[in-house]
Amino acid sequence: MFEEHREIVNTIHNLSEDEREILYSALNIHGHACGGMPMGFVAGMAALEALGIERERNMDTVAVVEVGNGHAAGCFVDGVQFATGCTFGKGVMKKEPKGKWSFRLIDRKKGKAVKVTLRPEILAKAFAAPFITEYRCKGVNPTDIPAELGRAGFTRPFGLAPEQVFRVEGPFDVEVPKATPCFATIICSACGDTVAESYARLEDGRPVCSDCCHYAR
Ligand SMILES: [Zn+2]
Ligand SMILES: [Zn+2]
Repeated sequence: MFEEHREIVNTIHNLSEDEREILYSALNIHGHACGGMPMGFVAGMAALEALGIERERNMDTVAVVEVGNGHAAGCFVDGVQFATGCTFGKGVMKKEPKGKWSFRLIDRKKGKAVKVTLRPEILAKAFAAPFITEYRCKGVNPTDIPAELGRAGFTRPFGLAPEQVFRVEGPFDVEVPKATPCFATIICSACGDTVAESYARLEDGRPVCSDCCHYAR
């Protein structure tokens, strides 16, 4: 599987070595070649460029994606996540489900944001492709779809001019509330789980986790 992914990624020539390596990791983690993830990937790279920042390795950049739940091409979000480095685990990937193929990328340090939206034309093309009409619409899993269809969708966004794929708005000024991460922990007096102090509660004067707390909320 990884060899096949390497082969697919090696067919994309207009990326730097590092970008190609990230795309390879992205494809490995995403798990299948489709049209959605790479559209998010190129859009994510464009958002970084528009803000003049590097891929996030810490927690200074936040991506707010407007893709909803349970609709086609949600794979787009993974592309945004991997290209920008704004991952769910670091708490810098947020979802505002609106059923749209757009996201905002926020630079917390400078208080700037850009909005990137996929063009209706590229979405219409993606939704009219056999990958969707012949297979995904009929409930076929992406890995069970003929490989050449997935590959075609995967490589398409890299062969187009950026303005054919998405629209970038901004940078805009944004208010970024300061947040201090919680490093303190408590042990729940009922179940014994370790809980971040910011999530702990008090019940009868004893610290408990939210699972063990009986108070009405
Ligand atoms: Zn996918
Ligand atoms: Zn507990």
